[in-house]
Amino acid sequence: MTEKACSECHRLVEEENECPIDKNNDLRGNWSGLAVIYDPENSEIAEQLETSVAGRYAINVR
Ligand SMILES: [Zn+2]
Repeated sequence: MTEKACSECHRLVEEENECPIDKNNDLRGNWSGLAVIYDPENSEIAEQLETSVAGRYAINVR
């Protein structure tokens, strides 16, 4: 997989070397499950991931 997942918020990051949300640079290539959040205000997944930013997230990050 070319995308990496932020170890903190699970945000998927394609090109950058740090997470655009929390500026964490601990990005993991080993992740599984994909959640796409369109509407963070009304999303159970967003609540679980504790994020308020729309986008693509990994479910599990190792
Ligand atoms: Zn993050």
